[in-house]
Amino acid sequence: MLQKFDPRNNDIKVWIKDRLYPRHEAKVSVFDSSVQGGDAVWEGLRVYPEGIVCLDDHLNRLLASAKTLAFADIPTKAQVMEAIDKTLKANGMNDDTHIRLTLTRGEKITSGMDPRLNQSGSCLIVLAEWKPLVYDNNSGIKVISSSQRRNTPQFLDSKIHHNNLLNNILAKIQANVAGKDAGLMLDERGFVAELNGSNLFALINGVVYTPFAHACLPGITRKTVMNICRNNEIKCVEADLSLSEFYNADGVFATGTMGELTPVVEIDGRPIAKDHPDLVQVLGLFKDSIRSFCQPLKG
Ligand code: PMP
Repeated sequence: MLQKFDPRNNDIKVWIKDRLYPRHEAKVSVFDSSVQGGDAVWEGLRVYPEGIVCLDDHLNRLLASAKTLAFADIPTKAQVMEAIDKTLKANGMNDDTHIRLTLTRGEKITSGMDPRLNQSGSCLIVLAEWKPLVYDNNSGIKVISSSQRRNTPQFLDSKIHHNNLLNNILAKIQANVAGKDAGLMLDERGFVAELNGSNLFALINGVVYTPFAHACLPGITRKTVMNICRNNEIKCVEADLSLSEFYNADGVFATGTMGELTPVVEIDGRPIAKDHPDLVQVLGLFKDSIRSFCQPLKG
């Protein structure tokens, strides 16, 4: 499923560093670290009238990723929230909105890899767009397993939510070439890690399984699903899971802020039902409770 341009986003205002710019003037320098080396961290947030889904978890992950990458001059949570608040207000957005929050290492004094060349602090970008859920969660998605492995802490820790997602982009290209919606990535041992842009769950004999977060992003929607299961006495466990277990599951779904919960109806040509009662139950519980996870912007 390819997203389309939404004309409502033509005149949006975008926050860069310390102020808002009209969309067509919203630019970063060619010396910015995101241009130079993909040297940035990011979050995707979803906005409902009740607030932003799991806002605190997203801010914590953004700041933790920046700390791991040793960014200097990391904004505080209050500063990030103020920038989000001003951006949403300037655009009149409080629903049907997705925010791409990016924190780059900032501008360099000359091109080069060395973070000591960054002498003007990090750069926060708040890009809020009108964007409904990106997948049709009724029809579900078809995926194909990719030859591209998801990285583990041995090379680049998948717990850092950084902008160097080229291995995931290569997996997505393989899916595009195959005419499927997403690439399924394995870890270096051959167990399922995640889709190129979302986490995966399998329902097997009444138990909800998801891969350990060794080689996938510990997604916030993933964590929300695990909490919802626990609150409803549905057994939910992390495990090493092979493709065979996914092919033969009673139901499979993907999780992420952009698409929330999406049934996976085919993996490598093997059909997977999307009407199993256990799957219907988990999807329904999520839909019914997602707004209770919204947090308003303070201040
Ligand atoms: N995996 C990857 C690779 C992602 O980029 C994302 C989106 N941030 C996810 C999973 C889903 O994470 P979340 O539920 O926090 O949006």
